[in-house]
Amino acid sequence: MKIGIPKEIKVHEYRVGMVPASVKEAVLHGHTVYVETLAGVGIGCSDEDYIAVGAQIVNSAQAVFEQADMIVKVKEPQSSERMLLRKGQLLFAYLHLAPDREQTEDLINSGAVCIAYETVTDDNGQLPLLAPMSEVAGRMSLQAGAFALEKSRGGRGILLAGVAGVAPANVVIIGGGVVGMNAAQMAVGLRANVVIIDRDLEVLRQLDRLFSGAVTCIYSTNDAIEKYVLAADLVIGCVLVAGAKAPKLVTKEMIQRMKSGAAIVDVAIDQGGCIETSHPTTHDNPTYIVDNVVHYCVANMPGAVARTSTFALNNATLPYILQLADLGYKTALTTNKHLLNGLNIYQGQVTNYSVAQALGYPY
Ligand code: NAD
Repeated sequence: MKIGIPKEIKVHEYRVGMVPASVKEAVLHGHTVYVETLAGVGIGCSDEDYIAVGAQIVNSAQAVFEQADMIVKVKEPQSSERMLLRKGQLLFAYLHLAPDREQTEDLINSGAVCIAYETVTDDNGQLPLLAPMSEVAGRMSLQAGAFALEKSRGGRGILLAGVAGVAPANVVIIGGGVVGMNAAQMAVGLRANVVIIDRDLEVLRQLDRLFSGAVTCIYSTNDAIEKYVLAADLVIGCVLVAGAKAPKLVTKEMIQRMKSGAAIVDVAIDQGGCIETSHPTTHDNPTYIVDNVVHYCVANMPGAVARTSTFALNNATLPYILQLADLGYKTALTTNKHLLNGLNIYQGQVTNYSVAQALGYPY
């Protein structure tokens, strides 16, 4: 198959659909990979790195779209890219169509076969192509929180780890899924006092076993959240209720009563946030202060560590890319139900129930 990797054009998007090592795998499987010039420059991969593994470098996105049977991207295609898609062409990327009517219409009209990373499933009922970004955001949340606690950002001036003779910080993680567990690993590594709050007892049992006493696992009630948030130096919001906006678990009133200079990292901000005072921020200006509490609410945290994020994403997408390329999309989709769950649009038809429901298309 001919695989095309355009350079990402969304503002501040530095990731790339395939790193050179992934391209090499595809070439070893007998496929041809067209890479737009400078596609990997944002993560430190040059055209020469791609040429060395057998890629063909082309000069424009147009050339990539014209040559390729399958386009592999990170972000949803932007308007100018959508115009380049053609009937029967395969698109594999994050799409997030439910809130995006314009993109959905364009993809329907293109006649392309569009598989969204975010709805591909695995045998455990998880979303394997979303998990790597949750891992990155969870680990990064401690870095962001540590920074927010510094005096220069308006924080309490607390070092998460403390030092010999000075107590470490209290870190409270609300939601113990992929983000929360990764945040906890970093917090424990930094020797903070760590509490994880979740409403799923099985999640709490797993975390309890995993950390063997290094974190305190608490069942999620309003009462527990209030008690631990008020004692916290750093709160990390990591809840997810599938298919719904995040519940506002930390109220304005709790924020008013938190320690002065405490910090909040609301990772769930991409689902509306689980803190009542949160609103989305950007990497250019990541924090703001409400009632002396520093808020960090960047909706695209992995974008700041684009190189790590690209490699993590590629590790997860590569097996699916190879399957689609080796078998062709018809056989791949009929033999792999998890890949089929990723199919959002098939030659003019919406094929994902949630997207159809959200935008009023027949399903
Ligand atoms: P996940 O499904 O693995 O975990 C979510 C956890 O929240 C589950 O364990 C669930 O039991 C728990 N939960 C739900 N309701 C709760 C409640 N009332 N009290 C306590 N816990 C509750 O999800 P995840 O992959 O860890 O993602 C968490 C959030 O982070 C999502 O909103 C996701 O979109 C977001 N996220 C944001 C970024 C970013 O850049 N800001 C990046 C990746 C993920």
